Amino acid sequence: MYWEKDVETLSRNKLEELQLAQLIQTVKRTEKSYYYGKLFKEKNLSANSIKSLQDIQKFPFTTKDDLREHWPYGFIAVPKDELVRMHSSSGTTGRATVVFHTAHDIAVWSNLLARCMFMVGMRKSDVFQNMMTYGLFTGGLGFHYGAEKIGALVIPAGAGNSKRQIQLMMDFETTVVHVIPSYALHLSTVFTELKLDPRKDTKVKIAFLGAEPHTEKMRRKIEGIYSYKAFNSYGLSEMNGPGVAFECPYQDGMHIWEDSFLVEIIDPKTLEPVADGQEGELVMTSIQKEGMPLLRYRTKDLTRIIPGICPCGRTHRRIERIKGRTDDMLILKGVNIFPMQIEKKLMEIPDVGTNFLIILDRDEFNDSMTVKVEVNKKYFAGDIKQLENLRKKIAEELKGELLITPKVDLVEPDSIPKGEGKAVRVIDNRKD
Ligand code: AMP
Ligand code: ZN
Repeated sequence: MYWEKDVETLSRNKLEELQLAQLIQTVKRTEKSYYYGKLFKEKNLSANSIKSLQDIQKFPFTTKDDLREHWPYGFIAVPKDELVRMHSSSGTTGRATVVFHTAHDIAVWSNLLARCMFMVGMRKSDVFQNMMTYGLFTGGLGFHYGAEKIGALVIPAGAGNSKRQIQLMMDFETTVVHVIPSYALHLSTVFTELKLDPRKDTKVKIAFLGAEPHTEKMRRKIEGIYSYKAFNSYGLSEMNGPGVAFECPYQDGMHIWEDSFLVEIIDPKTLEPVADGQEGELVMTSIQKEGMPLLRYRTKDLTRIIPGICPCGRTHRRIERIKGRTDDMLILKGVNIFPMQIEKKLMEIPDVGTNFLIILDRDEFNDSMTVKVEVNKKYFAGDIKQLENLRKKIAEELKGELLITPKVDLVEPDSIPKGEGKAVRVIDNRKD
């Protein structure tokens, strides 16, 4: 039932003792990075500033913008030759935020994932099909290493190619899958096309659903289509990737691994801690990382700590499934998208206005994005081919930037309603 019983069930006191010792070590380490070294000098901070866990509040928050501004190496806390791996956040081909790992970091991360997977019943005898993008994104290699640590047979299937996924699943009798929830729904339509029934024709009993927000209703829908139990998996590249928080067999909140992460929940407006159990923005400090430890990283994800002890016996607290974001980041098919990226690309194309609207839809099984764009009037008076060429060009440019293919609708100037004040850029029609 437990991968590391002693750590997973540590008493609260002991867990906090461990956190404090690791926090002090982490602050000592971060001092060596360009960014924190400078910041600590300016603010007169050091490891000596930490006498209790609450003292973390003396330190400033770290944001994605800080990471971007000190790209690429401004946050590394070890000599570069100690680094063995780089990853980045999903989405954007431009300057994605990057994170670095030492060999120790990879070992700790793999162990956390092994802990997650073991917790919900995956064992050495399982066949694990990892349907996540391999490469820079963390969902592929992160889970891969964790599953190997358990000793399961790993099929590094990667994302997409649905017919092959199904073939692999059937040929090798896959028992555990890792999948983005929207893709799990899409894949079920391919089963239907092939006149197969995922409940009868596969042996999958466990699924890990991660990388994008989904509701309890969506989980139940997926569990109803397939014959497996689906467990919510939360993580972000800045904190390794997956393996930050994970549901246990009780499926009532995700245990956040507090021996690796110091957790705060703040009011995103006042930046003050919220009362216990209240909703707010999750802020995390990585307390086991060597390569690129981050202090008080603002995830922009909204959640709350679930009060009380979980019946599974683990003492690490649980967070509720992510409710939304405090910024305008969208996640479509597991890919992170900022509306600003779209605006930037559109501005580079002549005859294209900056008034645009992103519409996200979900039919029963597929998510999609439409970008409505205002273009110069002349395109509607002239040759239809010209309009079509422009549409194709915009679609291609956006695909290059976003890594997913949006549908593009060109419309006449002033046809997208302009409200007063801040423009509404996104309409999200995705429901369960
Ligand atoms: P990335 O850095 O590309 O791994 O993206 C991390 C972001 O994906 C998080 O900050 C969340 O907004 C989102 N995310 C990842 N896993 C989940 C999940 N299980 N539920 C909701 N959102 C998630
Ligand atoms: Zn539990």
